[in-house]
Amino acid sequence: KDIQQLQKIDPSKLSISKTTTPKELTPPEELVFGRTFTDHMLSLEWTASQGWLPARITPYQNLSLDPATCVFHYAFECFEGMKAYKDSNGQIRLFRPDKNMARFNGSCARIALPTFDGKSLMELISKFVALEERFIPSTRGYSLYLRPTMIGTQRTLGVGPPGSALCFVIASPVGPYYPTGFKAVSLEATDYAVRAWPGGVGDKKLGANYAPCIVPQMQAAGRGFHQNLWLFGEEEYVTEVGTMNLFAAMINKETGKKELLTAPLDGTILEGVTRDSILALARERLEPEGWAVAERKFTMKELADAADEGRMLEVFGSGTAAVVSPVRKISWKGRLVGCGLQEGQEAGPVAQQMKDWIEGIQYGDEEHPWSVKI
Ligand code: PMP
Repeated sequence: KDIQQLQKIDPSKLSISKTTTPKELTPPEELVFGRTFTDHMLSLEWTASQGWLPARITPYQNLSLDPATCVFHYAFECFEGMKAYKDSNGQIRLFRPDKNMARFNGSCARIALPTFDGKSLMELISKFVALEERFIPSTRGYSLYLRPTMIGTQRTLGVGPPGSALCFVIASPVGPYYPTGFKAVSLEATDYAVRAWPGGVGDKKLGANYAPCIVPQMQAAGRGFHQNLWLFGEEEYVTEVGTMNLFAAMINKETGKKELLTAPLDGTILEGVTRDSILALARERLEPEGWAVAERKFTMKELADAADEGRMLEVFGSGTAAVVSPVRKISWKGRLVGCGLQEGQEAGPVAQQMKDWIEGIQYGDEEHPWSVKI
């Protein structure tokens, strides 16, 4: 936004070419995340001289790109992750899509890809989603995962700002993250690899941030842990977990009050839409019950001390995929730090409450300005 002015899209110029070979729907219980796609895709091309060209909805299809296209060499790529939900009346709803559009623009601007006016792209995405309505199961827990993506398409090995770009949106029907109820995960506090650093791009949703996290994830998995807990610096600040933000609930040592903590937006964590929603709901609905809610830096040692002193209440990740993901334990410096769950307990009360509140809004059980009908 600061780097380039938001560039105009004219949604009224949309052309729609429907598939002649509609896909057979995958039975909901057989859906695997990100493997099944809908019949169509939304595409918009951009050139430096002409700006955004008319948007097109076409049958889902391969891209054809020259091997010299800059996305393949210098990682001009960023994306978003958001969902469309069907409520009990069959109405399709998006959850805070303005947040995803703003974040997408920030990612694009950071890697010299074109920006766009978010309202117009939302309008186009809404039309696309409405066309794919039959792919959204109406069962609670199911949704249509949307993947807006932007790539630099200039055919050049020269390192410079792409003179052309492609924005496309694909959609994948997805099932509940926890089909049989919550399953608390165990984490490995990771100090041997760093996901993000001050002045870096960890707060942007660039594809280039994700590939380097796979090897550490495999290493953690090889030792029996589900995900990396990304620490930063000699102080071992807790930043994020895998591809989720992290919340810790504990009793504050000084005040004796219950405190819900998450790392601040200092450039080293992604600005999660779920994170923001949990913070807002906690301030609105938990603070009056005596909770303190804080965005502040905290260290792995603070978590371990809270566990040792019986002040640890619960820890959970937050993200679009699962809403919340409860944490059972964290491996750190050769020991296991318990995260407040009893044996057999898969989620703490705050994680459960947040999931219920947020899903209630996403599926329209609670009318709320965050849920946008399309
Ligand atoms: N952190 C990272 C690194 C992520 O990839 C994601 C998923 N977008 C999140 C946090 C959670 O963000 P959101 O709540 O917007 O899904």
